[in-house]
Amino acid sequence: MALYKNIPKVDKVLGWPLVQQALTVYSRPLVLKAVRATLDACRADMATEMASAQTLSEEHLTKNFVAELQKLSSSTLKRVVNGTGVVVHTNLGRSLLAEDVRDTLNNVAFCYSNLEFDLEKGERGTRYSLVEPLLCELTGAEAALVVNNNAAAVMLALTSLSHGKEVVVSRGELVEIGGSFRIPDVMRLSGAVLREVGTTNRTHLHDYRDAVTHDTSLFLKVHTSNFAVVGFTAEVTAVEMVEIGKEYSIPVMADIGSGCLIDFSKYGLPGETTVQEYVKADIDVITFSGDKMLGGPQVGIIVGKKIHIDAMKKHQLLRALRVDKMTLAALEGTLRLYRDDLEALSKIPTLRMLTATATDLEKLGKSVLKTMRRALPDQFSLKLEHGFSQVGGGALPLLQIPSILIMIEAAGISSQKLEQHLRMQNVPVIGRINKGQFLLDLRTLLDDDVPFVIAALRTVPFDIPPNAQ
Ligand SMILES: *Cc1c(COP(=O)(O)O)cnc(C)c1O
Repeated sequence: MALYKNIPKVDKVLGWPLVQQALTVYSRPLVLKAVRATLDACRADMATEMASAQTLSEEHLTKNFVAELQKLSSSTLKRVVNGTGVVVHTNLGRSLLAEDVRDTLNNVAFCYSNLEFDLEKGERGTRYSLVEPLLCELTGAEAALVVNNNAAAVMLALTSLSHGKEVVVSRGELVEIGGSFRIPDVMRLSGAVLREVGTTNRTHLHDYRDAVTHDTSLFLKVHTSNFAVVGFTAEVTAVEMVEIGKEYSIPVMADIGSGCLIDFSKYGLPGETTVQEYVKADIDVITFSGDKMLGGPQVGIIVGKKIHIDAMKKHQLLRALRVDKMTLAALEGTLRLYRDDLEALSKIPTLRMLTATATDLEKLGKSVLKTMRRALPDQFSLKLEHGFSQVGGGALPLLQIPSILIMIEAAGISSQKLEQHLRMQNVPVIGRINKGQFLLDLRTLLDDDVPFVIAALRTVPFDIPPNAQ
């Protein structure tokens, strides 16, 4: 039984060779913090009677100290390997940026820029005018504005267009997107008054018409991104909403969620209505995310009629929702690639991953498997399997994209233990377990992820007897 009084003092630990060595690399406050955390953890172990004399050994404590120091000195937000096959994975950072934006990002982050400076006039400019022409060119809209994310875009649009007035929405479109974004709540916060019409499964044109009063300021259409209503359903299309909007001189807004600039039906995915099509349908205000199927940084994009967007540009709330210069640089670089569909599809990682075929992935899988087998001990068994990937980010929720996955088994270690072990590495490897098998989906693996997968697998502790795990 170990005793508290046997826990070494901080000063003593600071004299140990490995700790001394750490002091030549890391700052004294950081090393001290790691030493204290190690001793605190040791004390906590003793309280739960998990400690033995060995717990107090220099060897054991030093090992814990090194782990603690590593944790303290590494960034908490870090690279991970996404082997889940969910391309727009909200928990794993949604979209990856295209290589093409690297230089611009670098310049803007580490040098001064013309963020709010009009170089031609030599006077104050606005950050919002930087990507507006490009957005108008690509979508055909009269005006555009970029804010923090799509939630912010909806919030700003509703506040600016409908504060203190009624907004008509179908009951089938009062959606919740990932936890904290709920249309009725956003509406309340914006000061707009929700006027629900229709039913969960069916809403008709006359429902909208019957709801119009002197207080009606907006018809709102919300893309039911993350679910589908099937069976006996009826929905009023955005085009039909524009017709009655014109009849009553009431603007129409569409929160289209993901926002596609490319017709994916040409490239093997179900076709979503593109932003250009919404603009052509004469919708007044359209909002969408920059980091879902668009494949750019986290932003909310608002395109539509100049009169409404000008009002939003003048609104005080915009200041609180404004985007950062690095975000603008990343967005501009991404949007530029959309001038040519094929360039966008090959260079924007989200689009490249979404349109990769199972045949492409099988070829890749064979070569990855070869590399992995060569680098890993015999206790691993690796196999390619057929499976399905998902878009993620609440887009096309029912779509199962045929994919190829690497199934990994480690002798004597359960899939759950393997999953947990890989998730705890310096570069964590995030996979998924299906029917008891640990899987990595090749669709979301990057070429340079493979060495990290191998490094993580090589740390799997085979020497621990199964009952000790
Ligand atoms: C995803 C989504 C949002 C929220 O967008 P963020 O960019 O995550 O803020 C809002 N509305 C719809 C319909 C969505 O799909």
